[in-house]
Amino acid sequence: MWLLCGCTSKCLLTSFSRRVVRYSHHFLGKSFNKAACLPEAAGFEGVSDHSGLQQFSVSQTDRFWGAVARQRLTWISPFHTVQDCDLSQGRIKWFEGGKLNVSVNCLDRHIHTFPERVALIWERDEPGSEVKITYRQLLEATCRLGNLLRRRGVKRGDCVTLYMPPCPLAVASMLACARIGAAHNVVFAGFSAEALADRIRDAQSSTVITVNQGVRGGKVTELKKTVDAAVQSCPSVQQVFVAMRTENPVVVTARDVAMEEEMLREAVVCEPAAMDSEDVLFLLYTSGSTGKPKGLVHTQAGYLLYASLTHRYVFDYHDGDVFGCVADIGWITGHSYSVYGPLANGGTTVLFESTPVYPDPGRYWEMVQRLKINQFYGAPTAIRLLIKYGDQWVNKYDRSSLKTLGSVGEPINTEAWDWYHRVVGDGRCPVVDTWWQTETGGICIAPRPSDPDAEIVPGMAMRPFFGIRPVLMDREGKALTSNNTSGALCIAQPWPGMARTIHNDHQRFTETYCQPYPGYFFTGDGAYRSKEGHYQIIGRLDDVINVSGHRIGTAELEDVVNQCPAVAESAVIGYSHDIKGQGVYAFVVLKKGVDVQEADLARQLQDMVSKSIAKYACPDFIQFVRRLPKTRSGKIMRRVLRKVVERDLDGLGDLSTLDDPAAVQEVIQGHQDLCGKEQPQ
Ligand code: AMP
Repeated sequence: MWLLCGCTSKCLLTSFSRRVVRYSHHFLGKSFNKAACLPEAAGFEGVSDHSGLQQFSVSQTDRFWGAVARQRLTWISPFHTVQDCDLSQGRIKWFEGGKLNVSVNCLDRHIHTFPERVALIWERDEPGSEVKITYRQLLEATCRLGNLLRRRGVKRGDCVTLYMPPCPLAVASMLACARIGAAHNVVFAGFSAEALADRIRDAQSSTVITVNQGVRGGKVTELKKTVDAAVQSCPSVQQVFVAMRTENPVVVTARDVAMEEEMLREAVVCEPAAMDSEDVLFLLYTSGSTGKPKGLVHTQAGYLLYASLTHRYVFDYHDGDVFGCVADIGWITGHSYSVYGPLANGGTTVLFESTPVYPDPGRYWEMVQRLKINQFYGAPTAIRLLIKYGDQWVNKYDRSSLKTLGSVGEPINTEAWDWYHRVVGDGRCPVVDTWWQTETGGICIAPRPSDPDAEIVPGMAMRPFFGIRPVLMDREGKALTSNNTSGALCIAQPWPGMARTIHNDHQRFTETYCQPYPGYFFTGDGAYRSKEGHYQIIGRLDDVINVSGHRIGTAELEDVVNQCPAVAESAVIGYSHDIKGQGVYAFVVLKKGVDVQEADLARQLQDMVSKSIAKYACPDFIQFVRRLPKTRSGKIMRRVLRKVVERDLDGLGDLSTLDDPAAVQEVIQGHQDLCGKEQPQ
């Protein structure tokens, strides 16, 4: 558990720059005004600055979250208990007794004040063809779809799987589920049929919603065909709703429902279900350190409140701003910051269907100019890619609308941070490096909110959000109290946005998150706390790698590779990649007597990963070895494999526990033959 995976972390720490950037704060003015900052804080005594407010939020948790929840959510009936949590037992309950409907909070309540405000700007793949959807239109689509789902037998408590690209009907589908009390399970539309089928089966969905075809980067993908292939092995699926993204007809089966056509037959009013605060809002699958992805469960009130509060304060989002989160809705970032956070705040949010380089590397900034985006939220991997194309692609476009730049999904190296800040933001926009994960529901550590003019250190997430108490643990499980130290990042008390369980596997939830450090939530990440008390995320401590901001468990990859009849065993590790953050490197041992062309087999293994998981998970390098370095008890020494790939032969450490130290020499030689003298990139 204590190994830092990949050298991104090491590079980050060593290249850690003490440069500090100061800004004049937009919304707080020069002196702290607690009521202007957070109106609820007017009643919080003894709070005179931001850190006082943060302190209040963690020491008087019930008062803080109680006030914020009463003020910011619209309740059908009020809650009687702010929280009933015991992390050591994995019991997490917020706002019990309360009833509400998430779609009402995201739509209906805004209709009274601004029905014609734009809720969604769908930035379609074809540049310049954006579609704007008002709150009134989105409510109408949500209600029609809610009625259709109900008419077709979807009930409160069911789970509907969505396999869709970012588009208004995907958002309407999420909200329609919320409206009638069904949970949704959005599966990233880049996942293969097999990966989709696993998730449909685990979620026990009888209804799937998809589109006929996806369009991304000018290429058409056959999403409906993928769903057809997936449902072959999902006996629970009774119906597939198909929306039309392109005009191309698809093969229709008896279980298919023409979504738009059927929606037109439904009423535009749909009675919202009165949901309990702790009813399930959605499942979202993510990778862990075993082969089986876990369906993290988020519930209604706490999740929505946390997504909306973080959206409002981390990005300094104001009424009338255009919020541009370019994450796909298939990931938690898309859930919290393309959909739920902005809509709960009555905001205007962009749904980005394309890629950063389509039709050219100016795509993001041309979009910023055209849509007048005020907050741009993207991933370091895209920033690193765009740096390579040169500043001219940025400078061509007017970016004066930008006020805040956000980064998410992986550590942002100082070079990328600096370019984002200096070139994209013209040196005038705060860059917020936001740390969080599927499990946390929303941003937990970020440079903002903060005191006015507070420093921002490049490449550092820095400050805990309201209600978050980060703790670093040493190897013995003791909390480290001093600064200028690194440890396992835990969060010392529950917060409303956190996941409640793993679908159908609460034991795995408690074992993974609650038991490693009893009484604390363990994030799986390592972090450094600076002399000044600011946090910097180092990287995963477990066998999870992060490719272009997407999590993949090495065990998941090994499971696929090991299914090949020619393969005896394998070990997959992450290595530092200058665009993707981390790349995938597989060591493969063949069965005795197998005689194959290695290049052919490598291609075959890549195809298998692409078919079983997704293209982005494919190994960049496959090294065939006669044996893997193992301990005498038979455990693969991944640490040694990582050092070999990092070319850190001096750091191989103690090899005396190895069963056969000569195996290491073979691995080193094979690596040099495959990658030459340079580190792989
Ligand atoms: P996911 O749940 O797929 O969003 O992945 C969450 C993981 O991504 C975290 O556990 C971190 O390892 C990594 N991550 C997310 N945001 C950051 C960040 N700002 N800095 C460093 N790592 C991050």
